[in-house]
Amino acid sequence: MKSTEFKAWMELIERMSRNQRDKLRKRLEGKENTDEVIGLIERNQEDKPACPYCRANNLYRWGKASELQRYRCRQCNRTFNALTGTPLARLRHKDKWFEYEQTMIEGLSIRKSADNCGIAKNTSFKWRHRFLQIPATHQPSKMNGIVEADETYFLESFKGQRRLPRSARKRGGKAVKKGTSKEQVPVLVVRDRQGETANCILHGTSAQQIEPVLIPLLNKDVILCTDGLPTYKQIARQANIVHRPVNIAAGQRVINNIYHIQNVNAYDSRLKQWMRKFNGVATRYLRSYLGWHRMFDRLGQSITPILCFIASLGKTRQVQQLIVT
Ligand SMILES: [Zn+2]
Repeated sequence: MKSTEFKAWMELIERMSRNQRDKLRKRLEGKENTDEVIGLIERNQEDKPACPYCRANNLYRWGKASELQRYRCRQCNRTFNALTGTPLARLRHKDKWFEYEQTMIEGLSIRKSADNCGIAKNTSFKWRHRFLQIPATHQPSKMNGIVEADETYFLESFKGQRRLPRSARKRGGKAVKKGTSKEQVPVLVVRDRQGETANCILHGTSAQQIEPVLIPLLNKDVILCTDGLPTYKQIARQANIVHRPVNIAAGQRVINNIYHIQNVNAYDSRLKQWMRKFNGVATRYLRSYLGWHRMFDRLGQSITPILCFIASLGKTRQVQQLIVT
């Protein structure tokens, strides 16, 4: 905008009603959010990022689109911006992204998040799963010291699916068969005493299913604590890992005052309680919600919409830096 134009526009403010000024203020606040979102997206971008299509570095600036710097690749001629190829590409209404992350921190349902942010329910659904896409893949690489592992179960849910593979159950209903029936989805939860947590959906609870998920998470010198399930004994022996099974069935809780699975069980009950807020998560989205809760747990008191947003962008190192400072 030219400065004379701007000056004339500013003078119009004098003629605005209080109501109109309120509307203007809200609009400007939205713009501030957009500026901050753009800043976070483009920060730490190298001067000349690589082309997401052909990986070439030979680029030039090519105007702006949706307020993001656009580049054009000299090699393949395609244009892109910092979000191209990420889960957040082509999503609109950037001014509402932080607000949306906040509703996710509060554990609101898709519908309530939509109402709070003034967006359509379909948009809310799309945003939720795009924002969760990268956090869903983030697991700690290696665990140390005393590591507790246990399986937990989630009721299988086909919520939101038109064609049910079986007859529908009442919302929040109970499985017909108790324990490990086919209606329960097993999840392995692993937590070390520093609070690093990994969890993973299993296709069964045999050694063949648990071993490839559990063992890569463990450093060689860990001490593994589990319940008395023979499967863990077998896995630990094969991987040559020190194992302290707690005989829960016989009423044993702790060995030598330090070997127990109470941290992993406490994590599990927090996870279950948190999941309840969403009135049952469809099994096909369970992985996303597990990832979101890991992030929720990892960030703890320092959680903010901005940190969650940076995590949704996949800038994990930046999240770490911001927590430390
Ligand atoms: Zn290219």
